Amino acid sequence: MAAQPLSRAPWVVPTWQRLSEALEGGRLGHGLLLAGAGELGQSDLAERLAARLLCEAPAEGLACGSCRGCRLRLAGTHPDLRRIGLLERDDGRLKTEIGVEQIRQLSHWFSLTPQFGRGLVALISPADLLNMAAANAVLKTLEEPAPDRYLLLVCSQLQRLPATVRSRCQKWILQPPAAEVSRQWLQGEGIAARDAAQALEWAAGQPVAALELARDGGLALFREVSEQLDALATGRIGPSELGRIWAGDQPEQRLRAAVAEVARRGWSGEGLTVAGDFTKLAAWSRQADRARALYAVPLRHEMLLVELLQGWRSLHRGRTA
Ligand SMILES: [Zn+2]
Repeated sequence: MAAQPLSRAPWVVPTWQRLSEALEGGRLGHGLLLAGAGELGQSDLAERLAARLLCEAPAEGLACGSCRGCRLRLAGTHPDLRRIGLLERDDGRLKTEIGVEQIRQLSHWFSLTPQFGRGLVALISPADLLNMAAANAVLKTLEEPAPDRYLLLVCSQLQRLPATVRSRCQKWILQPPAAEVSRQWLQGEGIAARDAAQALEWAAGQPVAALELARDGGLALFREVSEQLDALATGRIGPSELGRIWAGDQPEQRLRAAVAEVARRGWSGEGLTVAGDFTKLAAWSRQADRARALYAVPLRHEMLLVELLQGWRSLHRGRTA
């Protein structure tokens, strides 16, 4: 995560200002959709808004951080704030969707009286993982708005949320910033200029994903994978040998890097003339993505990798170093 709160990032600030103005002017909706592709700061925005709504002495449009409401919220015990997210399964892993029972309980809670009189705030995140029945239950809540009830839906894949729910919400959608803004922001977070530019390419222009990539040592691995794909394409290394290397060292990460690298090449046009056919490259990328998903289940992974890498080699047949 960013060292600075994302709500202060340059591409988030204007949206926060408009949100504050809507709040001050009494124009804030009952159902609010806070969205951005991947993570652009919508979670921070939702947290900031929830804090502001529950604060008893907001100053300059922000929560004070020290009143009773703020203290309880920071301690995670504010009775007028509810968080709905993915529940844990019996084996300790997270469920893959938000279920209808969670929303039914929320609707009931919304019918109660706020304990501190400032309203009830519910935060659903990730709202794009509401299952169909849960989304319908949310829709019902949105159709019967009560005063001082705020439903904040945090979303990173807007198209996954049913259109009926989307259309009932006041929308606050963050757009990815221009490349130059992202680069400057990344450098402000301590990332070197060259790393920032490269991380942005692999993260498809998404600044937060690029920051994570540059921070967790991912760039070195991405560079290595890019070079290995070139070596494989030109026959300097064989699929079996590379498959063995990948299987033995961070295979899932390498597959993720390979998918990002193909996307980057598609974007920049790099290597497309030799690969000949973008469709084939895209198909290979999907295959790599599936292989990555298969890593969650025990399989003969090395064979899977070798097969995938053979495919890459034959895509580039005839190309030599
Ligand atoms: Zn406060």
